[in-house]
Amino acid sequence: MKEIILIKNGEIALKGLNRGTFEDVLVKNIKRRLSPYLKADIKKSQSTIMIDPINDDADMDAAAEALKRVFGIAGFSRAAACEKDMEVIKSTAVEYLKPSFRDVKTFKVEAKRSDKSFPLNSPQICNELGGEILSNYPYLKVDVHNPDLIVNVEVRDQYAFIHGNQIKGAGGMPTGTSGRAAVMISGGIDSPVAAWTMAKRGLVIDAIHFASPPYTSQRAEQKVHELLGKVSRYSGTINLLVVPFTEIQERIKDDCPEEYFTIIMRRMMMRIAVGLAKKQGCGALITGESLAQVASQTLWALGCTDAVATIPVFRPLIGMDKNEIVEISRKIDTFDISIQPYEDCCTVFTPKHPKLRPSPEEVEAAEKALDIEDLINRAIEGVKLTIIDHSLEA
Ligand code: ATP
Ligand code: MG
Repeated sequence: MKEIILIKNGEIALKGLNRGTFEDVLVKNIKRRLSPYLKADIKKSQSTIMIDPINDDADMDAAAEALKRVFGIAGFSRAAACEKDMEVIKSTAVEYLKPSFRDVKTFKVEAKRSDKSFPLNSPQICNELGGEILSNYPYLKVDVHNPDLIVNVEVRDQYAFIHGNQIKGAGGMPTGTSGRAAVMISGGIDSPVAAWTMAKRGLVIDAIHFASPPYTSQRAEQKVHELLGKVSRYSGTINLLVVPFTEIQERIKDDCPEEYFTIIMRRMMMRIAVGLAKKQGCGALITGESLAQVASQTLWALGCTDAVATIPVFRPLIGMDKNEIVEISRKIDTFDISIQPYEDCCTVFTPKHPKLRPSPEEVEAAEKALDIEDLINRAIEGVKLTIIDHSLEA
């Protein structure tokens, strides 16, 4: 039996004149993501993209799994494509949707025909097919208002398509249609979720991680690789820049007042991240900060951090509770990696009583003893690049 995939665009269906450009990017992304599993003829019509596999050994299960992680797709259906003959449509539906019929109690048939020369109209198709399904699966009932399963029949130019309930897509905008941004990634729960949330809006993601060996271990860096591996299954390849941060943290510890350690460290991170982001062609930074979660994420502390940022800083989790963030991290499969206990540089030299309401002026005074430019330049010179390739992740 011939099987195809029908994809429903997400939000790009609402775009006006630019819609074609967004769709072209989406089609390219779909093609690339599906390439390990099948070769396909891809056709667009209205807000549907049709994937018609041309190789006999297409792996449709793997392709469907991969599609769930392509941004820009609201939902999709695997569909049987059969001859436009009512008898064939009936036998195909009864056979193809057998696994779905086993799982439900109620159904209804919805029919569409763009080929008006088909001898039956839509209500007649529904009646005939509904009757056939009931006689094959007598335990089923028709429920037109709230059915467990909708059996869709679409009679088009070449084939009739038959499919069951839609599979939910990842939503968002196609990767690459919103430019590029760099996520500041730790090994924690929040920053991978922040990266995924912004990647969903169509951004290509780079990543910046600050490492402070020997205070932080190689294993902590490995954790960041693993987290980005999970994110890259959605976002595509990620360039990871690891910044040597030990010297800066030691300087802060030796030369600055203790209650400002964390906020000064955050400002140093921000300055370096801005420099690297600009070099990489990124238009914004992304962090996993959430208002009031910790001392460095109070309104005042965020103000001090932002004061040194000369590009936009996206904080998609700013208004979320921890349990909402955890829910997303479970969904994208980063949670179990994040909770492994490896020291992050943020937990090195933390003050006992951090300043909760710092002002930019007092922080500036507190960091006066540092040769900021020199420290930043040396850190940037020591950056190491790793490419996190999504094809390495199953
Ligand atoms: P996360 O769960 O993402 O670690 P957090 O709640 O632990 O966040 P902080 O440790 O204060 O909060 O970090 C706030 C944000 O700063 C992080 O979400 C991340 O964007 C960035 N950040 C923290 N540590 C690092 C690091 N070592 N390298 C790069 N960015 C970092
Ligand atoms: Mg952290």
